[in-house]
Amino acid sequence: MPLPVPFTFSQASLQDHQDCPRRFQLRYIERLSYPAIESEPTLENERHQQEGETFHRLIQQYLLGIPAEKVSKLANSTNLERWWMNFLASFNFDRQTDLLYPEMTLSAPLAGSRLMAKYDLVTGSPENGFTIYDWKTYRKRPRNEFLVTRLQTRVYRALLARAGAHLNSGQPITPERIEMIYWFADFPNEPARFRYDPSQDKRDWDSLEKTAKEITAQASFPPTDETRQCAYCTYRSYCDRGIRAGGGDTIESELTLDITLEQVPEIEL
Ligand code: SF4
Repeated sequence: MPLPVPFTFSQASLQDHQDCPRRFQLRYIERLSYPAIESEPTLENERHQQEGETFHRLIQQYLLGIPAEKVSKLANSTNLERWWMNFLASFNFDRQTDLLYPEMTLSAPLAGSRLMAKYDLVTGSPENGFTIYDWKTYRKRPRNEFLVTRLQTRVYRALLARAGAHLNSGQPITPERIEMIYWFADFPNEPARFRYDPSQDKRDWDSLEKTAKEITAQASFPPTDETRQCAYCTYRSYCDRGIRAGGGDTIESELTLDITLEQVPEIEL
């Protein structure tokens, strides 16, 4: 089955392709829903995912101007209450100097296709530069070396440089005026900050264009040789890669699980 044209790539679909071309095919070309659980214990992970989505909505409402006291009433579980208190203690955005753009979507042409991303928050001004924030509810704090290689880090900064001119008095935002911050709700004092520069930007965009071209020309999408990926993949019984879901009993597997779960809402892009 060919790739639908024009195809809209996202960081999640590109990451899926990097992790397993077969998963990319099943999820974004064949759009196959497969009802396998991604990990054990199921209920706990489902709850964690729902709380993560609710947490993002709380922040969005607050950033859109709803008073913190009102939003606080919606933080109605132990996790949500803790994350929300951590957020309020960590951020005090100065709305006088910097504009806030919560839940902003940007897109740009990419080698005959499109690239789209939805940002938790972009804040800044032409005078002060721009910061991308991404809220994470991971149970473990990932290493910066891991995060910097993720497609999300590369896509979000490169796309803001190409599609953010309307935030910057009509001029493209130069890479050195972009920073990305992952803020971890359970590790509020350990954010991961990634500045940007023109050489990183060129490397990222060249690589994204090359990947998009390769995927659109690709005739087959083989399964990954790295079978570790399959333990947390919803398609594992479809691919005959086992029927039992992976557990979250090591740091690495918990992180894999968190990342797998957080990509689900982006599938609709
Ligand atoms: S089960 Fe494994 S081979 Fe199949 S799509 Fe998932 S990661 Fe790829």
